[in-house]
Amino acid sequence: METESNQNDHKTIGRELALFSFDEQVPGVVYWWPKGWTMFNLIKNDLAKQLADDGYVEINTARIISTETLKQSGHFDNYHEKLFFVGNEKELEKPKWCLKPMSCPGGLKIFSQEIHSYKELPIKIAEFGSVYRYEQAGEVNGLLRVRNLTQDDAHIYCEENQIEGEIEKLIDFVNETYLRYGFKDIRVELSTRPEKSIGSDEVWGKAENGLKKALDGKKIEYTINAGDGAFYGPKIDFHVKDSLGRSWQMGTIQLDFAMAERLDANYIDRDGNKVHPVMIHRAIFGSLERFIAILLESTGGALPAWCAPVQAMILPISEKHVEHAQKIAAELKTQNIRIQLDDRNESVGRKIRDAELQKVPFIIVLGDKEIESGKLAVRVRGSRDLENLSIEEFVEKVK
Ligand SMILES: [Zn+2]
Repeated sequence: METESNQNDHKTIGRELALFSFDEQVPGVVYWWPKGWTMFNLIKNDLAKQLADDGYVEINTARIISTETLKQSGHFDNYHEKLFFVGNEKELEKPKWCLKPMSCPGGLKIFSQEIHSYKELPIKIAEFGSVYRYEQAGEVNGLLRVRNLTQDDAHIYCEENQIEGEIEKLIDFVNETYLRYGFKDIRVELSTRPEKSIGSDEVWGKAENGLKKALDGKKIEYTINAGDGAFYGPKIDFHVKDSLGRSWQMGTIQLDFAMAERLDANYIDRDGNKVHPVMIHRAIFGSLERFIAILLESTGGALPAWCAPVQAMILPISEKHVEHAQKIAAELKTQNIRIQLDDRNESVGRKIRDAELQKVPFIIVLGDKEIESGKLAVRVRGSRDLENLSIEEFVEKVK
């Protein structure tokens, strides 16, 4: 529970910028408003493009999964207190299904329906999975901890000799992504075998050493978080702080020698034998909701222009400039600039202040002078000066 009053709390920012809200009757679920959903999709699609460039394919698995499958994968025993069961009223007395708490078992259902060859490995399959976890009502916290989160999940199916190289590439991927969003204070943890776990000591030892070798190879500083691994294998976690200095787990890279065997996923190796691939489970953002919370708190809502839901606001000085402002807004829209027109009957000073409060990256003021010169008077967020730019120059600046 939060008691501190905090200007940079993402919940305050989300309300002021009209990004999202919550339903008090259902703890931990998010309602994304138009601007919030635009931002959400811009961030998601940007990662999706990078994944595609990096050789991932994307799938989407069903949100309802059978408890039988989760028993087979081992998730049921290790996770059942966090499951949301589904069915009609009668079925709920003895539920057969639940909302998926993670995407791996579903992903394996796709992978295991084909025979793969070692030549295809590593196979990288991504999913922006909507997953459900029954978090304690008291622990639910804005976007930081929700009960229905969007995990940027992916599974890399590979051979043992590919593990180290793949993990090293993933560490770079995470660091590069965080730096693009300006996250600097990143803490890395290596979590080892928990009490509740599956697999032999030998396999765990091998997996933990594999992750250590990759971290040491990259000269990454990390702390050991003993006993906090996933039940199927050890993991590397990336932690970032919120505006109150609390540390949150974001990205994760997990090594797994068990689940492919449990769900009968195979490939044919060099010698023609049917064997189980190693699985690397990884998420770069972790939860998109949590990532967005940290992003809003670290920027105070002043998002980089590329993911700002409204990139520019155009303000006609008076009634007679409105028509021209509409034309300019229409032209900029065809150039894929997300622009809004403020044609309220308010003073320019007031309109500028409101656009600033909405953290809009660019404010365009339009009056006689601008109509005559054909240039736009642009105020860049955080600066008091006006820049005079042609439409082309402005488009260039936004992109
Ligand atoms: Zn997974």
